[in-house]
Amino acid sequence: MAQRVPAADAGARRTSRVRVAVRLRPCLDREEDRTEGPCVRGLDSQNLEITNWRNATETVKYHFDAFHDERTTQQGVFLSSVKPVLPHVLGGQNASVFAYGPTGAGKTHTMLGSPDHPGVIPRAVREVFSQVRTRGGEPEGWDYSVAMSYLEIYNEKVLDLLSPSAQDLPIREDKDHNILIPGLTQTLLQSFSDFDRHFIPASLNRTTASTKLNQRSSRSHAVLLIKVVRTQRAPPHRRQTGKLYLVDLAGSEDNRRTGNQGIRLKESGAINLSLFTLSKVVDALNGGAGGRVPYRDSKLTRLLQDSLGGSAHAVMITNIAPEYSYYFDTFSALNFAAKSKLIVNKPFVRETLTVPVPQVKRAREGPEAERPRKR
Ligand code: ADP
Ligand code: MG
Repeated sequence: MAQRVPAADAGARRTSRVRVAVRLRPCLDREEDRTEGPCVRGLDSQNLEITNWRNATETVKYHFDAFHDERTTQQGVFLSSVKPVLPHVLGGQNASVFAYGPTGAGKTHTMLGSPDHPGVIPRAVREVFSQVRTRGGEPEGWDYSVAMSYLEIYNEKVLDLLSPSAQDLPIREDKDHNILIPGLTQTLLQSFSDFDRHFIPASLNRTTASTKLNQRSSRSHAVLLIKVVRTQRAPPHRRQTGKLYLVDLAGSEDNRRTGNQGIRLKESGAINLSLFTLSKVVDALNGGAGGRVPYRDSKLTRLLQDSLGGSAHAVMITNIAPEYSYYFDTFSALNFAAKSKLIVNKPFVRETLTVPVPQVKRAREGPEAERPRKR
């Protein structure tokens, strides 16, 4: 058995950790709400508990960097989990914010939201422009420019959502280890309304129209890149680039369970590869003992390589739903996200289950007995 390493020590030395937040959406199924009640419950701003599938008298308690309960507003999520990374982007560092979780748990609501309840993406872009305006007037004198790119990773192909020609674009790395995509459309933005004008049609293209496209939206990763370049007005005219990735990930549900065939099965495999690799990358960054971070094993992680770990600021918002119909997907999403977990009320006799499990020994690597079985 591998030696347990306190998570904070192992991760912090080499690279920055990925901050992990969990957001529980409200119950949408009135009927189920009345009959069964939720299977997940928030405890405080960092902890939640979920019914133990094996024994209803027990709960499993999880700890995160932040827990946003079902009453948390869009503004609340933005202020606590996203706004703090924006000054770093204006200062020439990279950041990424991604929404993880099963289809229907609230990823798109969190990232995009609606006109009445705008999500992280419009709020972050507005805030970037607001900070650019403030800093543009500062005496040290940097000029800022803001540009956007918008792409989709579908079936391990990189597709430009701002340009109609749907070709698989290559991902490259320059000598300074910056990741770039030659040929990807970059649109300069002067203001938030510029952003709206380009982003809304592109995102509608992706998510509406037909059932097929809806399936596609739950099977592809939508990646918005906001690039902030600042140039010193006085000599030597230093130039710095900060990148902010805002990612609505594919659904984390286990597609093998739904009996997909042929092309759909291939899609599931590809999605699982990217999400599976993402989980390994986050694990490695957050304290997995030594070893390489497997960025190159999928398109998604390769693309995020310079904005996830290293000096970058990364935030994962795991979205979960309270209904029992989501139970197994919620359980596996929490096991991906959790810093630690604890069985409470009536502990199992096995020693490994009676103590908080450090990040490096989380449930999905733990004893079989703990894992919910999918039928
Ligand atoms: P996903 O993108 O993960 O598949 P959605 O964001 O589409 O999930 O959310 C599924 C449904 O739940 C949508 O109708 C959405 O409006 C609603 N929803 C999600 N999160 C919330 C929330 N925090 N408050 C209210 N409604 C929500
Ligand atoms: Mg969605």
